Amino acid sequence: MNRRYRKTIIAGNWKMHKTPSETRQLIDELKPLISKAKWCEVVLCVPYVDIPIALRALKDSPRIAVGAQNMHHEESGAYTGDVSAAMLKDLGVKYVIIGHSERRAYYHETDTLVSRKVHLALRAGLRPIVCVGETLEQRDQGVTLDLITVQVKAALSGVPVEKLRQIVFAYEPIWAIGTGRTATVEQAGEVGASIRATIRKMYGARAARSVTIQYGGSMTASNAHDLLAQLDVDGGLVGGASLKASSFAAIVQAANQ
Ligand code: PEP
Repeated sequence: MNRRYRKTIIAGNWKMHKTPSETRQLIDELKPLISKAKWCEVVLCVPYVDIPIALRALKDSPRIAVGAQNMHHEESGAYTGDVSAAMLKDLGVKYVIIGHSERRAYYHETDTLVSRKVHLALRAGLRPIVCVGETLEQRDQGVTLDLITVQVKAALSGVPVEKLRQIVFAYEPIWAIGTGRTATVEQAGEVGASIRATIRKMYGARAARSVTIQYGGSMTASNAHDLLAQLDVDGGLVGGASLKASSFAAIVQAANQ
């Protein structure tokens, strides 16, 4: 990470875990543990139904923001069961995860859809956390950097430079998500640097150095410090370890050193 140019952001992705009452309980446990985290922003990406209670529980914690895990790719309309960017913004949500590999895999979200969501999120005033990453097969084939370049370019297509800083990228190797198998620091650093190089080619060096690039994939208290020591790993998107106050707080602490 390089705090001189960009924010360090640790985001928890709770996925489909925690009821509203469990949300209140987890946040109450978490707050005192991370109250001293001055050097990084913390985001809790909770299920839609937990958003109101999370916002209420965090009213007195300005450094902990609430994020959503998805949003629809249209502004509004007949999309039963879906949630729009404007609805999230109106509630008080600050971040939204876009293009998580689980959504790409189970809901067939394509790079085109990711791009539409990025534009809508930015227009609504939300900060997108755009997930990119390769399968194990793609890594073995040696196409990781090319594939991620395509994903990054697609997500940024048509995004003006003045909006670029609002976007966070999360490099999430699919083979590392929920598997307990973390990318090596070299792998995370290499892909982070490659994402930044792609942004640099599109927007120039000054704009590129202001973008936060997270790593996600079995990040834990024990590997966070080394991953975050990489120049182009500016935070984490944390799944499993964000579901327990102590393990998430330990990652936040590592980012705060
Ligand atoms: C994720 O879901 O984005 C993630 C990184 O999960 P985990 O930390 O459990 O691998």
